[in-house]
Amino acid sequence: MDTEISARLFERARAVIPGGVNSPVRAFDSVGGTPRFIARGEGAELVDADGNRYLDLVNSWGPLLFGHVPAEVREAAVDAIGRGSSFGAPTEGEIALAEAIVDAVPSVDKVRLVNSGTEAGMSAIRLARGATGRRKLLKFVGHYHGHSDALLVAAGSGVATLGIPGSPGVTDGAAEDTVLVPWNDRDAVAEAVQVHGHDLAAILCEPVPANMNLVAPEDGFLAFLRAQADASGAVLVFDEVISGFRVARGGAQQLHGVTPELTVLGKIVGGGFPLAAFGGRAELMDALAPAGPVYQAGTLSGNPVAVAAGLAQLRLLTDDVYARLGVVTDGLVDGLRTAFDAAGVPAQVLRHATLAGVLFAETAPRRYEDVAAADHARYARFFHGMLERGVYLAPSGYEVIFPSTALSDAHVERIVTAADEVARML
Ligand code: PMP
Repeated sequence: MDTEISARLFERARAVIPGGVNSPVRAFDSVGGTPRFIARGEGAELVDADGNRYLDLVNSWGPLLFGHVPAEVREAAVDAIGRGSSFGAPTEGEIALAEAIVDAVPSVDKVRLVNSGTEAGMSAIRLARGATGRRKLLKFVGHYHGHSDALLVAAGSGVATLGIPGSPGVTDGAAEDTVLVPWNDRDAVAEAVQVHGHDLAAILCEPVPANMNLVAPEDGFLAFLRAQADASGAVLVFDEVISGFRVARGGAQQLHGVTPELTVLGKIVGGGFPLAAFGGRAELMDALAPAGPVYQAGTLSGNPVAVAAGLAQLRLLTDDVYARLGVVTDGLVDGLRTAFDAAGVPAQVLRHATLAGVLFAETAPRRYEDVAAADHARYARFFHGMLERGVYLAPSGYEVIFPSTALSDAHVERIVTAADEVARML
């Protein structure tokens, strides 16, 4: 596979962009090699600058549920930009998108649109703090909620991949109100709630953690968090930036039947554009300015092009879409399991609804430490073997597989065949 142009672009990029990338997870630092520079996406495929094609299992880290540029999203975005790129004044499209979110997500009566998941998470915890008058946050080790100071502590995703435990630049003051607890550990949660309950503003989690590979909540764990929030008066915040509109139309809260006070959304809701949201119970959301005193704002928030694309994508989310995504995920998961079994490679092919993950470990993970202890060097070999065969996986064993409906049965078969070959070389 010729990657000469990507290599040249990477060199040029490194001269003017730190590490050559605008988000650390795009780098190949933990798996080695040169990141592919992407020229375009076509349905299920990425095409790099050298013209190599890859079946895409990252899909921009989740937003592209239908693969690259579905016609409806493209048309909506093109149509919107014809009318103007940004107004700094309200538009009807924002109402339509808010209505679509309220309709889909059980916990959301009112919603505010922002530009990134980071912003949405940061704003949600400010709102929780402002509304409760409390300071502390309970956060789970390995969960990623964007890169705002208070939430970067013991985070997953790129923070875990690069082994940066607490980022320089985050002051002790910003981090000291974040209480850390291992995922799926009821005793630790109960103890933290007992110690900090009176000052706990929020219990925050990814209800389907997907930034420390994929570590599903154990039976009843989300309901347990709901009960702990009720008992302490803390606001339960579900970060559904990945799980929202993916594990079900109404996200993990619909799938698991547990309703938080606040929900953080991103990725799919923006149709591949910079758009995210946070929403929840009306009385809580009305604490936001200008209705209430908690300040939150954005020049480009509710951008008309992003809103049009997001709305077009949400309108495509029928039951048939989730059924098809389920079939695609089944095919990938079953095929990968068979490939690793046949090769005698100890691997966990993780799966929760329409998300999947590959972890080279003897047993299924329950918490972050189990993922950290997996064989990440083997993942790097798997990643490169697959890349060579035209399959684009996340360049880190801390990330997940994001299936799209653009993957046909024949595509899934190609991926499984590649995995079968690579597994024998691991
Ligand atoms: N929360 C979760 C669960 C995420 O996965 C991410 C990004 N991967 C974020 C928040 C931050 O979103 P963004 O990258 O849009 O700031």
